[in-house]
Formats: sequence, C-alpha cells, structure tokens
Amino acid sequence: MSYSNSIIFGPIPSRRFGISLGVDLSPSKKQCNFDCLYCELEGSKTVDKMDRSPKVTEIINAIKDSFDKHPKIDVITLTANGEPTLYPNLDELVNEINEIKGETKTLILSNGSTIYKKEIFNTLLKIDTVKLSLDCVSEKCFKKLDRVNKNVEIEKIIPAMCDFSKETKNDFVLEILFVKDLNDKEDELILLYDAVKKINPRRVDIGTIDRPPAYEVKPVSYGFLESVANRFESINTNIIYKNRPKSIQYFDMDEIKSMLKRRPLTKEDIDNMFDEKSKLNLNNLLNKNIITLVNSSGVDFYKNLQK
Ligand code: SF4
Repeated sequence: MSYSNSIIFGPIPSRRFGISLGVDLSPSKKQCNFDCLYCELEGSKTVDKMDRSPKVTEIINAIKDSFDKHPKIDVITLTANGEPTLYPNLDELVNEINEIKGETKTLILSNGSTIYKKEIFNTLLKIDTVKLSLDCVSEKCFKKLDRVNKNVEIEKIIPAMCDFSKETKNDFVLEILFVKDLNDKEDELILLYDAVKKINPRRVDIGTIDRPPAYEVKPVSYGFLESVANRFESINTNIIYKNRPKSIQYFDMDEIKSMLKRRPLTKEDIDNMFDEKSKLNLNNLLNKNIITLVNSSGVDFYKNLQK
C-alpha cells in the first residue's frame, strides 16, 4: 500500500513555530495506546504497537518532495493518527530527517506514555522540540480519562519525564488537558502540581476540550485554567483557550511587578488584561530591567527579575 499522498499535511502557518510541515506516521487508521475521552479522533481500541505504517523511505521522499515545492518550511512536525512514538522505525526516521533537514527544526507531539522506554527516550533527545502530554498522575485518573493500554507502565512515566527534562539540551514542553469532573479535582491537581514541579519542563501548556470529543465529556472554564496557572507560580504556564474572555484593566507598576512575581505572563495574557496605560508601565519596567521577556519554545513570557 502506498501512503505518499496522505503522509504529509500542510505546510500550514503555526503561531509558535512558523511554517509547519505535518508528518502523519499512521495515515491509514488510528493507532494509539490511549483512548482518551476527549480525543478528536473516533474512539477506538488501544494498541501497543502499529501494525500498519509507511516505510521510512516513503516518509523521507514525501518530506523531500515538500521541501522542493515549499522552500520555506520552519518546522517538521511528527504526529500521527494516534501516538507517533508507536511508529516502529522512529529512531531511523529521526536520524534520516536530521540528515536532510538543514535549518528546519523538528517537533514531535506525543502522549508521553512511552518516554520510559530507553530507545524512545534516546530518540526523543534528537528532536528539537518534544511536546509530551500529562493529563493525570494517579493510575485511577489515567485509566478513567486517558484509558491507557494495559501494557503501559504508568508509574514509570513521570520519573522518565524528570530524567528527560534533565538530560535534554533541546526544548521540552508539557501539555495538560483538563476535563470537567475528571482531572480537575483537588486531589489530582495536587499530584499534577507536584509532578510538574519535579519534571521542570521549559513550559507547560494548559488547555481544555475545544473540538468535538470522542465521548461525552465537558471542558473546564477559562477561570479554572487561570486558577491552575496561578497555582503553578514560577513555572512558565501558557493557557490555551479559544475565545478567552477579556478583562481589560489598569495596573500600576507595583501591581505589575507583584503579578509577575506570582507567575510569568504571556503576551496573550497581557493583551487580555492590560489597558494601554498598563502596557506603557510594562514597557517602562522592561526598559529599567526590572522585568524581562523570555522566549520559551516559541511563546514569549514576561518575568520579574527581582526575587
Ligand atoms: S493520545 Fe491523542 S490520539 Fe491517542 S487517544 Fe489520546 S488524544 Fe487521541
């Protein structure tokens, strides 16, 4: 079977990474070791390996063709109809992409469930940006929300993420998707907060369901995500929420300093909260080197430099 027409999607402009070329490592059907209640794909039985996937040469040829047609690609995004790290020749594929990619960056979007496998851990070290999901810490929550395959060794995921964070020289982003009445409960939040602190990724993206889910589940509110971001304190936390409610107000310099001491804010946070005068105050603090602007894997954060 030839997959050449379905492996590639895009290139499409991405807000964080520029022009992204999507590579689907499971173009023929969903193959995932999770069956998340919120999945945008149809619910399906979990698998712990792919039984149908394109050959490495097919994928590399498809990427080369896209490079010929679109000379300006900023990032190659490895993803799948399912879980990309279940692709059987991932290491070989990443090595070959790294040979041909030139200045183009690589990104993988994974559910994080295979990071404790040494060969996958080592392969992920060779990718420029690794984005892993972590919706739950307790086994009960993993089973209820992510509905993991029985061969996934849940208890090994977080320790391996901690090791990965220490070892990688590249960008490591964690993503948490909150679902109402599932992982938004206080006991799970405490565990998540503790795990994120230990893992210490470059950035945490927190969001909720924004497309029709596979099963009957509901999103959490923007207010809830904001309260989680406040609890994550000094961790670079990026709230992802479609149609955020705006609450434009005036903040003086002291208020801005103390807000940024509590937690770093993104440009999007600022646009949703600050009036024009507050933005002038913010720039003033920047010019005085009291606060700074840091880029974390494509997202700008304002941070207070004073302890
Ligand atoms: S890990 Fe991703 S693809 Fe797999 S079931 Fe969950 S949301 Fe769907």
